[in-house]
Amino acid sequence: MILYDNRLISREEAHIDVEDRAYQFGDGVYEMIRVYHGRSFYMDEHLARLERSAREIRLELPYPIAELKQLLHELIRRNQLEEGNIYIQVSRGTAPRYHGFPDQARPLTIAYVQHAKRPLAELNHGIRAITTDDIRWLRCDIKSLNLLGAVLAKQTAIDHGAKEAILIRDGVVTEGSSTNIFIIKDGTLYTHPTNHLILNGITRQVVLKLADECEIPFSETAFSKEELDQADEVFLSSTTMEICPIVEIDNKPVNQGVPGPITKQLQEAFVNEIKRTTLS
Ligand code: PLP
Repeated sequence: MILYDNRLISREEAHIDVEDRAYQFGDGVYEMIRVYHGRSFYMDEHLARLERSAREIRLELPYPIAELKQLLHELIRRNQLEEGNIYIQVSRGTAPRYHGFPDQARPLTIAYVQHAKRPLAELNHGIRAITTDDIRWLRCDIKSLNLLGAVLAKQTAIDHGAKEAILIRDGVVTEGSSTNIFIIKDGTLYTHPTNHLILNGITRQVVLKLADECEIPFSETAFSKEELDQADEVFLSSTTMEICPIVEIDNKPVNQGVPGPITKQLQEAFVNEIKRTTLS
């Protein structure tokens, strides 16, 4: 079953028009929410961000967030989703192709689930990354359907045998193509501050909360490519990758190519956070 507007229907029944604005303009917003033990992880925060993204592109959600939340819980239940993801997108709707906003279109919400296990091999051993120019637009704080900059960066990483592309704008590390990036130097955690150049990841916010609880000093301060190269530890965060060590960047090992101690401490705290929020 998938969510289509405000109904749960079979995927085969769903109809997307060729003039849906998500399809033609990437005109819409989206979210990805993780599910553990049949329960959603930080759903309220994701839905609040969806509302914010919609507001920022002047898209009025077709029905209240509280109703969407109920429908998503029903979607989890009907699909017997124990471990996986919920993808949600809201398009500005269908109208004759014209760049300006349509007068009449009803925004279309769709959501579906993916059954997916935690990426344990990557979490335990870390991943390889490359650096590449951040060519994206200047509103990266909006989780918009326009993902071509991210798609091209990710494919560059894949072409180099890496899992993630770390984006550099004006010599500064902004974030990953679909993740936030953290470094540890002399015991302090650094990540780019929230502004129009990054998406304020929900996992990023959880990482900072856990760092606080673990009494790991942190600073939301941008760092340069050189500081990235000289970091003691590097990791990324995202809904699907959680807190994942980066053990090689541009073919050079980080922390001798193994996950570092502070990264591992935060990973452990993250697993406890999953248990606390989804097993209670
Ligand atoms: N940054 C970008 C550009 C992303 O696309 C994502 C997730 O898709 C993130 C960061 C991580 O955000 P979250 O932790 O909410 O998944």
